[in-house]
Amino acid sequence: MPGDHGGQERRYGRRPDRRGRPAGYGGPRANRPEHPEIRGARDADRLAAELRRMDGASYGRYKALAGDWDFGDFTLTVERVQADPFAPPSRIAVHVPAAVAGIPEHAWRSPVRRRATADHLLRCAHRELKGARLRIDAGGQEVIERAAGRVEEGALHLRMGIELPGRGRRIDARTAEHELCERLPSLVGALRWSALDTDAAVAFADTVEDTVALREQLPELGLVAFVGDGAVLPRRSGISDLPMQGEAVPFTAPQTLRATVRLPHRGEVSGLGVPEGITLIVGGGFHGKSTLLHALERGVYDHVPGDGRELVATRSDAVKIRAEEGRRVERTDVSAFVRNLPTGSDTADFSTDNASGSTSQAANIAEALEAGSRTLLVDEDTTATNLMIRDARMQALVHGDREPLTPFVDLVRPLHRLHGVSTVLVMGGSGDYFDVADQVIMLDGYRPYDVTAQARKLAADRTDADTAPPAHRVIAPESVDATARGRARIKRRDMDVLTFGETDIDVRHLTQLVDPGQIIGVGLAMRVLAEDGLLNGRPLAEALDILDRRLAEGGVTALGRGYSGDYALPRRFEVAAAVNRLRTLRVSRVGNP
Ligand code: ADP
Ligand code: MG
Repeated sequence: MPGDHGGQERRYGRRPDRRGRPAGYGGPRANRPEHPEIRGARDADRLAAELRRMDGASYGRYKALAGDWDFGDFTLTVERVQADPFAPPSRIAVHVPAAVAGIPEHAWRSPVRRRATADHLLRCAHRELKGARLRIDAGGQEVIERAAGRVEEGALHLRMGIELPGRGRRIDARTAEHELCERLPSLVGALRWSALDTDAAVAFADTVEDTVALREQLPELGLVAFVGDGAVLPRRSGISDLPMQGEAVPFTAPQTLRATVRLPHRGEVSGLGVPEGITLIVGGGFHGKSTLLHALERGVYDHVPGDGRELVATRSDAVKIRAEEGRRVERTDVSAFVRNLPTGSDTADFSTDNASGSTSQAANIAEALEAGSRTLLVDEDTTATNLMIRDARMQALVHGDREPLTPFVDLVRPLHRLHGVSTVLVMGGSGDYFDVADQVIMLDGYRPYDVTAQARKLAADRTDADTAPPAHRVIAPESVDATARGRARIKRRDMDVLTFGETDIDVRHLTQLVDPGQIIGVGLAMRVLAEDGLLNGRPLAEALDILDRRLAEGGVTALGRGYSGDYALPRRFEVAAAVNRLRTLRVSRVGNP
């Protein structure tokens, strides 16, 4: 590989090295070595010629392609070349200058429109590349900033993978030439603004901008979430994120909880406004409770036009809470929920390699608050019952000093009153939460009704438990280490496991990680936290603040550091959650700020 290519800090779009050498400089020679360097003008014709010369040669000769190629309209950079046909795909970057891309300023001026336009272009590229060996990461139903496509000052930067073709372990140059010298230029041509369906591109950005505006208005309206009238919440199946077709019952807000907001493009829209405080979602089994909560979980993200949830927005600090038996907990304060464990351990400074259902859920709550969340989303389907409720008969049988748990029902109100934490909770199996709920929404045949008044009539008095503000922990920086055998290693297995250095982190239950690229993004963010010393001597939440600022300024690629694969922007809450699940994690100090 030429010495100046593939470096960690290289920038895209650097013009190819041109020293006015005549075309064909360093051309065919007798006795050429196994992997001759390509010198001289590296343009598209030259790439085609080089490829043809490589046909049938040993696969390793592809390495000579590394570096920049000037296609006139765009620059191709071959960043990483796979060692053999079965290795992970090679990586290339494409830089299309503003004059060629032709993206009008209105489509990239604001950060929100820039993200949306880049995302839309990625989706177009993905469609164009159907059946090709070129692969581009275009995301699912959510619009999440990703490294595969960026728009900067009107220029378009794309990064993609390519499986360089082989016949056995020999180079199949004809196919490679087709992909790189025909497919790629035609892709760039198809992505020119003048070749696009520009109405669709503008509508895409408008939709995202509306959702962002909606989410930004929630705090001043005193709402934690909004679900627009007409929204389609159910999905096609348990394994598909696409909207349900045909039989879906569109959402209609109950009159008494209806809110109206003004959006920049759609104008006035109405829907359910979920107020701050404690909101209970009740209803019979299979009436759509979990579907609504799931939509709220995803409402921290913007959705593509046609998703059905474009007008579902949740405060960006919302975190889904669940039980997670078996997780590790490192020095977390769960004393609000748990006291007097049979082991005698100090629950204000609680560690375990194998949490129970209730202690894992208590830790998940404490850690979400520590990371800065003030909006909790809870579904009875995935909670530890003994942490949620304890009825009068159980209280009579198992007395206070024997039962180490304070149920969430006694904490949810003080959490709001003292610490400003709102909770949206699905609970179809117990009326205990009637005592503490500010509003109760019943789903009946997928239609929401405001049943707050009826529920109040059934409510009893309840004494609040004590709760201290969230504790803050300082992490021992050396316990967060991305290196394995001397090199950084960040990988993922499906949506379940993040491999970080030598350790596997179980991320399967972090349901607000919605995109495979975000899992890598979490790993890269952890690496930045560790490598840049952001964890040193300061509470985790402050380290996350610094990270957030860097990401707001530098965009998602501030995480890259020479990582050549695909990744997408994670939220701070999932970064914190992954740190907390790291089996090597050590906390050096615990306390209140
Ligand atoms: P619950 O949590 O109340 O038991 P779920 O939310 O799991 O119910 O929903 C039960 C089923 O109903 C799911 O298959 C879901 O896809 C479907 N469903 C949910 N909301 C709607 C809707 N608005 N229209 C049609 N089907 C829906
Ligand atoms: Mg359910």
